[in-house]
Amino acid sequence: MAIDMFLTAALRQLILAVALSSLALVAATPVSAETRLDAGRACFSVSRIGEPPVAPDRFECSGEPSDYQKARLALRFDLSGLGNARGETVLKVHNSRFDRLQAEFVYEDGSRWDETVTSGDYHSHWRPGGQIAFEAPVRETGLSHVVLRLDRLASTGLLRISLTDRAESSAQFTLLAASIGAALTLLLIGASYNFGLAVASRRRFAFWHGAWALCMVAWGAIWSQFHLFLWPAMAGTVSSQLCTALSCLAVTLATAGAVLAVAPGGTPDRLGKAALATAVVIGLLGLPLAFVRSGPILAYADLVGGLMVLDLLLVAACLVMAWRRGNKEARMFAAGWSVPMMALALVQLVDTDGLLWGGGSQLLVLFASACQTVWLSVAASRTHLRLRIERDMARRAMADAKNLARLDPLTGLNNRRGFFEAVGAVLARGGSKGPAPALLLVDIDHFKSINDAIGHEAGDRVLTAIAELLARRQDKTCTVARFGGEEFAILVTGMTAFQILRFADNLRREIGEADFSTGPAPLAVTASIGIARRKGDEDFRALYRRADAALYLAKNQGRDRVVLDQDGAPPGRGRALALTGS
Ligand code: GH3
Ligand code: MG
Ligand code: MG
Repeated sequence: MAIDMFLTAALRQLILAVALSSLALVAATPVSAETRLDAGRACFSVSRIGEPPVAPDRFECSGEPSDYQKARLALRFDLSGLGNARGETVLKVHNSRFDRLQAEFVYEDGSRWDETVTSGDYHSHWRPGGQIAFEAPVRETGLSHVVLRLDRLASTGLLRISLTDRAESSAQFTLLAASIGAALTLLLIGASYNFGLAVASRRRFAFWHGAWALCMVAWGAIWSQFHLFLWPAMAGTVSSQLCTALSCLAVTLATAGAVLAVAPGGTPDRLGKAALATAVVIGLLGLPLAFVRSGPILAYADLVGGLMVLDLLLVAACLVMAWRRGNKEARMFAAGWSVPMMALALVQLVDTDGLLWGGGSQLLVLFASACQTVWLSVAASRTHLRLRIERDMARRAMADAKNLARLDPLTGLNNRRGFFEAVGAVLARGGSKGPAPALLLVDIDHFKSINDAIGHEAGDRVLTAIAELLARRQDKTCTVARFGGEEFAILVTGMTAFQILRFADNLRREIGEADFSTGPAPLAVTASIGIARRKGDEDFRALYRRADAALYLAKNQGRDRVVLDQDGAPPGRGRALALTGS
């Protein structure tokens, strides 16, 4: 429970830290001198790939470009109003699906500068946050306009273009790299932690959380273009296709994790299945969506987007139902899920593309995912801890119940069952080397009269005191039990007949000399002891019968004595050896 409280406190501090750092991040986003260039408002021309560039005076400045997905689209942006006297500008284009992109800067004095990247080769133009940057050389005059020529662009609707100050852009990229690195590290830790937990607790949902976090790491690394350090040839279309497929897969994995976490008795079966089915459809649609490069790509994206909203609603419904049904995990997971849900809602409602140093909606989703993985890890740990505590309690209760079934409640000695369990192994060994084991039956003499004299409760105290006296002899060679009433059994091993007789007689004497009086009047308590030594592979029942016969003999011969059954002959024929106290 202490660990549980620690986790709760840690979680609260974590939430506070995440909230404060999010605020700090937003506050730290510099008041940008960034200019967004809207592809929908640019003058454009569409020409066949390989043809000479279209002259600027043949650009159209009204309407929307069409039929460009298999051709070359040129977009011209007028920069004359920007006031950058020396052209100290960086043009940023967000990674999108195209084969080739040429950025041409035209200065006010008519001079030009251009640079080209192709899908599979971004040179040194790639930047963290999925951006391609073109830095116009500084000249004496400002920029007049910029022309972007894109071959086989998938959609103008997916283009994000902006212009930034040179000094600001390098600060932005440093901040972006640091924050993306932090988010990816958190996700990676979350993934390994959840996989570890899945193995340790054998719970499926932890595995799905781990798989989701790993998928987000892959998505984040590819979206932010960190992977280009290792595979520069992945630049461009392949990466954005992979990103699309991974983001759909992430929704499937996250849904599986959330639904399975609260599933056992938490949500109606059909609701859980509906959420999982929607998530699987999204995951499968991710593949064709990834390969779409022409046609109504935005309509496909909208369809998948709509399914994602449906999936979020179904998962939310699962969590709420589970919460209302008293599922302990639901509250934690609902809280964990609300972070990315809020991020997704924010992305839908507010134009976040220019936010967070140009990282935009993807960076927001990455931050939300990093928060979620930490949250889910803590939630999964709590669940694991609770299950372990419950399991330990159940084990302890089982062990207690087992012990109770083995022990005599009055004296705490073994009962008949406990005695058999304890001596079973000794007897199973059979007639091995060394002296044979022996069974002693100790019976209090005239106990009925003792009860009559001092009362049943005081009689109980006498029984307990005798049990304590016997228990003192208990060790690995001597097992003691209360066989019922005022009869005790002792199994001793490793003693010769003479040693056993001495052991039993000492016991008899000790009982006879002990002061069991519970009131002012002295109380005389004696015991008779019958002994049988095991012969060969003799079973317990036969051994007991002989020990009981010896006890019977001891009672018959006047009580307060020890009788050893010599060879199993019927009692009364003088084949027993007796020791008396009188
Ligand atoms: P004997 O010398 O022949 O053994 O005489 P006995 O009176 O000891 O033997 P018997 O078997 O006739 O009576 C046993 C008595 O032990 C009867 C019963 O009231 C008493 N007894 C059995 N179990 C308990 C117990 O748990 N507490 C108490 N106080 N008395 C018990
Ligand atoms: Mg008795
Ligand atoms: Mg008896």
